[in-house]
Amino acid sequence: MRAAVVTDFGMPLQVHDLQLPTPGYGEALVKLETSGVCHTDLHAAHGDWPVKPQPPFVPGHEGYGTVVALGEGVVDLAVGDKVGNAWLWSACGRCEYCRTGWETLCESQRNGGYSVNGSFGTYMLVNADYAARIPDGADPLEIAPILCAGVTVYKGLKVTDTRPGQWVAISGIGGLGHIAVQYARAMGLRVVAIDVDDAKLALATRLGAEVAINARTTDVVESVQQATGGVHGVLVTAVHPQAFGQAIALARRGGTIVFNGLPPGDFPAPIFDIVLKGLTIRGSIVGTRQDMAEALDFYARGLIKPTVTSARLDEINDVFARMEHGQIDGRIVIDYRNA
Ligand code: NAD
Ligand code: ZN
Ligand code: ZN
Repeated sequence: MRAAVVTDFGMPLQVHDLQLPTPGYGEALVKLETSGVCHTDLHAAHGDWPVKPQPPFVPGHEGYGTVVALGEGVVDLAVGDKVGNAWLWSACGRCEYCRTGWETLCESQRNGGYSVNGSFGTYMLVNADYAARIPDGADPLEIAPILCAGVTVYKGLKVTDTRPGQWVAISGIGGLGHIAVQYARAMGLRVVAIDVDDAKLALATRLGAEVAINARTTDVVESVQQATGGVHGVLVTAVHPQAFGQAIALARRGGTIVFNGLPPGDFPAPIFDIVLKGLTIRGSIVGTRQDMAEALDFYARGLIKPTVTSARLDEINDVFARMEHGQIDGRIVIDYRNA
């Protein structure tokens, strides 16, 4: 099989042949058709976070394909089924978090494209209990970004605790953010879009954002206050720490600020404002299998249509360069079908 491999943090990925993996107990081998490229893959390849993957590894956690072989003990997947991998590649199923509907917080979880080889290759392994089940009729390019970007922002929006008719600000209109605008609209929310790039804001407006603000050229806090009186919820998917501190000032009293973005770094948080305005600030990491099923169902019902551009696996270093410079509209998806 062909794969793009991280051999050293910060170095170009090496695209070469790897031995085809054999599915172990409870696992399935998947022949990939497509894989989205998430900014998390770039963080992984750079070793940006305190908990690091171990090179050599194959990134990728928005992979879509067909089951071609089963390991022992697989009961509810068959050869020919369409599945996806995910960041939540597996969890223990037994701990307090797993038992209480928070398997995304399981301390024994394994992560696709991070602690387990991912979807930047022509084949991958999935855990049969955790692989995403793809709805019939899905477009191979469009479905890929739902598997991380989609489920992540869908869950993130849910935990803003906003209700239909309320305002949500989405900061960062990249792969995650442009899909967040669509979920927010489908959930009946009114959207303020914030980015540092006018092309991204134009996309957000086309997707239904009522207010679009360029954080590089406009006073975001003043503009949001003027347009909405302060938003009920904020979802931060931006890749710059500056957006995080700023997000706190966008919320109205009692509002909730949810962080999805994971740039390395810190931000200042004003204690007085948080206390006096009764704000909630929370992190949100991908989604459970149930969140995934719901997020995929929104797509299957035609409510979400990711903006995608296809690329070849051997273009991965160029894709990463464009991502680093914020030059991607929506998501780039690797297409293996003609490889
Ligand atoms: P992306 O590169 O596609 O998009 C990032 C966007 O942020 C771009 O549109 C860029 O213009 C914008 N941006 C940069 N600086 C900004 C600023 N100061 N204010 C507003 N916007 C700004 O990245 P992506 O794939 O959407 O991922 C975004 C982040 O989310 C990454 O850090 C990624 O690791 C993280 N992520 C988290 C989860 C999770 O479960 N929490 C899941 C997936 C991705
Ligand atoms: Zn991701
Ligand atoms: Zn667990």
